Amino acid sequence: MEKIVIIGTGPAGLTAAVYAARGDLAPLVVEGIQPGGQLTTTTDVENYPGFPEGVNGTMLMTKMKEQAERFGARFVNDEVTASAFGRRPFRLTLSRGAAIEAATVVIATGASALYLDIDSVQALRGKGVSACATCDGAFYRDVPVAVVGGGDTAAEEALFLTRFASTVTVIHRRDELRASPIMADRVLAHPKIEVLWDHVVDALMDVEQNRVTAVRVKNVKTGALAELPIEGLFMGIGHKPNTDAFRGEIEMDERGFIKTDGRTRTSVAGVFAAGDVQDPVYRQAVTAAGTGCAASLEAEWFLGAQET
Ligand code: FAD
Ligand code: NAP
Repeated sequence: MEKIVIIGTGPAGLTAAVYAARGDLAPLVVEGIQPGGQLTTTTDVENYPGFPEGVNGTMLMTKMKEQAERFGARFVNDEVTASAFGRRPFRLTLSRGAAIEAATVVIATGASALYLDIDSVQALRGKGVSACATCDGAFYRDVPVAVVGGGDTAAEEALFLTRFASTVTVIHRRDELRASPIMADRVLAHPKIEVLWDHVVDALMDVEQNRVTAVRVKNVKTGALAELPIEGLFMGIGHKPNTDAFRGEIEMDERGFIKTDGRTRTSVAGVFAAGDVQDPVYRQAVTAAGTGCAASLEAEWFLGAQET
């Protein structure tokens, strides 16, 4: 039986791993399908303390993993598909069928990009529809693209896409960006970016040819429809917590965020949650790392209390 299993390798999971490893708990860390988490889909992270010039997201996560490994964390490249928290030891099932027993668990499975719920969006993922400009942006050299959303993700996606695309249209359903002021200012000042205020994407065009050549957009104030010729449509409409594997085993809110008590403790004693998976408010790398530290310390104290 493992003393502690940490699920996820974003800033929350890897920070939990550093602390658990230094606490001599020899953590087993399940990496999931996105080793390094969401920051591996961005370029420079400018607001993580300690890097005045910014730091590449993938580099930051690689260093965090190395730091955890240095103190003895073990990694398994698989994902948790089911959990049983009804009795101890807790049981986790991996995608290839293996089962792990654990005295404590830290859930740090983060969040995944949301896609628009309109026809053909799922079918055209990778064929004109994407949620990762750093992954797919280079495929759209010298062609027009659009980004949906008005938050920091949409702003970052749009700014990154200006390196390749001929024009970048940000399609936002309101008349004000949600993004932080510094990001919003960069978007509004960029000569290649145009913001289509008060518009939503109504339909994808040229679905028959299995690619995107345009989107139909709708003005939410007037109802007027228009066609916007683009070859790439990037999602920047937020994220949903990755909690499917824990459904029914632990308390969650109506959106699927794991409920914690302010000290990363969940509704099941011995199971802790850290990072975006339990945070509908801040959703930052540094807050994820902070709660990862807290979850690891809580798990250590929980184990200590069991022994006495
Ligand atoms: P995540 O980073 O989401 O990592 C989740 C981990 O869980 C992944 O390793 C995944 O493989 C794993 N996982 C998921 N499901 C399973 C499963 N079933 N089994 C096993 N493992 C699983 N924040 C900032 O502070 N500054 C920024 O500049 C910044 N830029 C961003 C840019 C973009 C494009 C995006 C999308 C987000 C950005 N953020 C930024 C937000 C930041 O990335 C997140 O707040 C942070 O990554 C959350 O960390 P996390 O550890 O909770 O989860
Ligand atoms: P977000 O802040 O929730 O913004 C989502 C955006 O998408 C909002 O503008 C929202 O519109 C819009 N939207 C949502 N659903 C939509 C729909 N169905 N159709 C059209 N538009 C829709 O999410 P996020 O931008 O992914 O950011 C998440 C967190 O990560 C935030 O805390 C953010 O600060 C952080 N982050 C930080 C950085 C950075 O620091 N550089 C970069 C990326 C992300 P409304 O505005 O009308 O609600």
